[in-house]
Amino acid sequence: MEMNVISFFNLLVVVILVQKCYSVKKETYNIGIIFNEPSSQSELPLNDTIVRNNIIEKETSVSLSSKVQVVSKIDIFDTSKQICNLIDDGVVAILGPSTYVTSPVVESTCKNLNLPYIVTSWRMTSFEESDVFLNFHPDADKLAKGIADIVRSLGWVGIIILYEEEEGLVKLQEVLKLQNLKRTDNHDFIRVQHLTDGPDYRPLFKKFRNTTENNIILDCKTENILPILTQAKSLDMLDIRFNYFLTSLDAHTVDYSSLNVTANITTIRIFDYNSEEFLNALQKWGITAFEFFKTPLYLTPTSIKTETALFQDALTYLTAALKDLPYLPESKVNCFADDKYMNGFSIINATRHKEDLPTITGPIKFDDFGNRIDFNIYVYTLDEDQLIGTYQALNETMVFARTSEETSLAATSNLKKVKVMVSTRIGNPFLMEVTPQDGQILEGNDRYEGYTKDLMDEIAKNIDFTFELHITEGNLFGSYLEDQKRWTGLIGDLLERRAHLALCDLTITHQRQSVVDFSMPFMTLGISILHKSPAKDPTRTFAFLEPFGTSVWIYSATLYLVVSIILYFIARMTPGDWENPHPCDDKPKVLENIWTLQNCHWATLGTIMNQGCDILPKGISSRFALAMWWFFALIITNSYIANLTAFLTKANLEPPIKNVEDLSKQSKIKYGCLEKGSTEQFFKDSNITMFQKMYTFMKTTRPSVFESENIDGVNRVLNDKKGLYAFLMESTQIEYYVETNCKLKQIGDWLDTKSYGIAMPMNAPYRGAIDKAILELQETGKLGELKTKWWKKKIKKMPCDENNNIDKDDNSNDLDIARTFGIFLVLLVGVSIAILLGLVEFLWNVRNISVEEHLSFWEALKIELKFAVNIWITKKKIKVVASDTSSSSGKSDRSDKADKKSAIHNFLHTASSFMNLNADT
Ligand code: ASP
Repeated sequence: MEMNVISFFNLLVVVILVQKCYSVKKETYNIGIIFNEPSSQSELPLNDTIVRNNIIEKETSVSLSSKVQVVSKIDIFDTSKQICNLIDDGVVAILGPSTYVTSPVVESTCKNLNLPYIVTSWRMTSFEESDVFLNFHPDADKLAKGIADIVRSLGWVGIIILYEEEEGLVKLQEVLKLQNLKRTDNHDFIRVQHLTDGPDYRPLFKKFRNTTENNIILDCKTENILPILTQAKSLDMLDIRFNYFLTSLDAHTVDYSSLNVTANITTIRIFDYNSEEFLNALQKWGITAFEFFKTPLYLTPTSIKTETALFQDALTYLTAALKDLPYLPESKVNCFADDKYMNGFSIINATRHKEDLPTITGPIKFDDFGNRIDFNIYVYTLDEDQLIGTYQALNETMVFARTSEETSLAATSNLKKVKVMVSTRIGNPFLMEVTPQDGQILEGNDRYEGYTKDLMDEIAKNIDFTFELHITEGNLFGSYLEDQKRWTGLIGDLLERRAHLALCDLTITHQRQSVVDFSMPFMTLGISILHKSPAKDPTRTFAFLEPFGTSVWIYSATLYLVVSIILYFIARMTPGDWENPHPCDDKPKVLENIWTLQNCHWATLGTIMNQGCDILPKGISSRFALAMWWFFALIITNSYIANLTAFLTKANLEPPIKNVEDLSKQSKIKYGCLEKGSTEQFFKDSNITMFQKMYTFMKTTRPSVFESENIDGVNRVLNDKKGLYAFLMESTQIEYYVETNCKLKQIGDWLDTKSYGIAMPMNAPYRGAIDKAILELQETGKLGELKTKWWKKKIKKMPCDENNNIDKDDNSNDLDIARTFGIFLVLLVGVSIAILLGLVEFLWNVRNISVEEHLSFWEALKIELKFAVNIWITKKKIKVVASDTSSSSGKSDRSDKADKKSAIHNFLHTASSFMNLNADT
């Protein structure tokens, strides 16, 4: 019986001990949770659900409970009071709050008491050794590094950073460092703007509207994203040309549908919607909420904030750690005592080292200071919420989820949503205005035709978008105006957001490329010289006079007269030319000199005409004088013949300049180029002495040699009758104009090599798609087809007369009648004068006969005419003409008449003797 009593007592003790032990192990751990006042009504039930889900409902070996406090976001005093209450209630750890305004109070209190403190919101990186602190939110420095790497991977050039709070600058500190990597001459690579003086930020946006940067990083509170983007939209800064990067990790919770966004917006978050863990958690929360609140929570993936996800993960970690911990000795602390909580380190240490737990926010690892150093940043596009890539913070690498093909495909999807504005300019054969048929009204793109329009049609068809051609103001290509600090023309349109694309014969230049992007080239070209073919001038009747200048002709004619007269006097002076008139008479009474003025002229004329003369001087001096004249005549006639050949035949058609060196070395032929285009820029910027010299020549030549349109330059070349103007133009244009007008010719090779490309704003998301389309058009031969169409088939040739057709002439060395007509004319006129003289002589003779034979004039004329036309009669009787000296002195009037008659007869006789070389005057 005694034994039984002892055994029962023992059993009781064991039961009590077991019970005691059990009750120690099953001790309740109170977790203090501080929520900020919720910004939405749905937040509280969700947070409650998560708490219930993790703590109360958890099958654990320890009993967990939560003590939730809701505190103000900004009231530090209230927060510290609430914390002290929580600590009084004997919590083992504290979670929250989310704002970095109030959490330092909690942190310092917890640190003092050695109480575990777990944070799930953004805070500056902590560098303080702490055994009791953990932050589940990605570490600020690591996050900044991640954001910078993501921005770099986007390949942006020129960034505008808009930040709302100072915290934003910490997030973007690494992005700011990118500035050192790539800074262009003309514009700042990164512009930073604090979003102050809100909520109307339109003036700020306006400031950036006309800059070259179209990449905007927006760092603002999640609730402000929509209002700010709406303002950007109102300024047309939310269309396809813009790229946005939203740094908020909750950007996915915003509903953007009202914005009708076509801009390329990139967002980041630290959890993946589609992950199993996230979907499981979402499901569990739904079930728990329904069980407890009896109303569904309507949770969608896009409604879950990062904070919520982090809270879930923090609780998962903490509760798992508490569950695994052995017995925690009781340790009571309060805000006003100096005691330290004994279990702080073990709880935090256990939480920090937990592994393989299902988390929503990916991998979790902490450094010694409690900062979370392992996490993923998922990069998404706003459009269709596509994953671009994942940034792995621990090893600082970016893993791309899309191929470049997929990226450009995604970019083009926005292009389809808008009417693409294409800025262009009129200029043959790229774009020409269509002349409407009768009554036809042309609208939109139908008003134009040409290479540009066809190329744009092909690209639009390839990518599938619609476009509208718009002629740029002033029809300018685009140059930078130093004084106004702005770009003109097509480039200005892109920079001032008036166009999405710029297409024409727009040359890719380094200066332009520093402010806009160019597609891959669609045409290659170079600068060359446009000049007029040296066409034969149909009006050159007296072309035979051209070998000598007017002065040479005048000098030669004067010399002919002077030398003839000199010869006359020399011959009179030299005894050698005084000859015996009757050689049989040894002792002549008189000597005769044949060198009359007429004969002297005849002798010199005969020499210069290469005919010689049948009388020659005999005196030494006269022979010497004539010999000198022969020498002169020899040189002058041979020079004339040599020059005449060159002038009248093809040799004369050789262009006076054959290449740019020839052009630069002379100043007779003026030359110019298109004003304010890449051609002028080429000469302006060239380091080559020859081109520098040419530019100086062009700049200083008056009137100006520059033209505002290529067609004006072409017309100037054509209108310069003497071919004294050449136009330096791009080979594509030269090719076209030479094809249309056979008077025009390209001289020499290209001075440089460059290309045309389609311009678009910097970093335009659709650039890849445009490049791909051009490549395809090139590979399928479409580009070549279009070139042939507009450079050969559709060309309107100017009528090309034979005189202008250099090619035709090239095959023939013949002289045509036009250029030799002058020679015929001289012969014609000369013979006509001879006929006229012959006629006068004949009539004078008839008149004399009529007087002598006492016949009427008509009778005498009839007889003489009969005689003259009878070609069989070759002999004529000599009429004895009565001597006028034998007539009576009383008949003075008759004698006067006879005098006159004799004078005229003498004149005619002299003239005829001059022509017939009748020596016996
Ligand atoms: N295509 C040129 C440009 O883009 C025009 C020129 O200078 O000939 O400026």
